[in-house]
Amino acid sequence: MLTDKAQVVVIGGGATGTGILRDLALRGISGILVEQGDLAHGTSSRFHGLLHSGGRYAVKDKDAARECIEENLILRRIAPNCIELTGGIFIQLPEDDPEYTKRWISSCAEAGIDCEETDVQQLIKVNPVLSPDIIRLLKSRMLPLMDLGFSGAMLIQPPLRG
Ligand SMILES: Cc1cc2nc3c(=O)[nH]c(=O)nc-3n(C[C@H](O)[C@H](O)[C@H](O)COP(=O)(O)OP(=O)(O)OC[C@H]3O[C@@H](n4cnc5c(N)ncnc54)[C@H](O)[C@@H]3O)c2cc1C
Repeated sequence: MLTDKAQVVVIGGGATGTGILRDLALRGISGILVEQGDLAHGTSSRFHGLLHSGGRYAVKDKDAARECIEENLILRRIAPNCIELTGGIFIQLPEDDPEYTKRWISSCAEAGIDCEETDVQQLIKVNPVLSPDIIRLLKSRMLPLMDLGFSGAMLIQPPLRG
């Protein structure tokens, strides 16, 4: 039902706005969402679907890596229907510094991002598109895919219905 009385007005129905509206509702704060187009009308309908693990920040920005993995785990808990646990792989090619891979593994462990060494040849057999030049291959279960219905799903969760 439309109402002109709300404690908070959220402008924009993308991932940020819908997430904020959900959070407000869970805290018992009334909110109204104003969107110029449709839900996920902007950037949120164009994203690649990667739910970042924080792995890409693990070496250079530990705080960002930790924040990523914490948010990753929250989203997996509150919107499991939007998330496919595909996992992700990180590779070392001949031109990459092997010391960086070592630092990356220890930084991931510090940030709480799981990764395990996987047999390169075995994975190339299953995924023949992978480069035969790969030297090391690390698999993480924490790099799943999120579907484009995420913004809508934020608004139809049980606490928000009715
Ligand atoms: C090509 C691409 C790929 C990406 N891939 C990934 C990825 O794989 N993983 C990842 O985590 N992130 C990814 N991102 C980033 C991610 O998509 C954005 O960070 C996220 O969608 C931003 O959401 P938002 O709600 O802040 O903005 P938006 O989705 O842009 O939402 C803003 C909304 O506000 C509305 N609006 C604006 N002004 C007004 C107004 N005056 N009145 C009413 N409504 C208004 C717009 O219509 C829009 O719907 C990607 C981004 C791009 C461009």
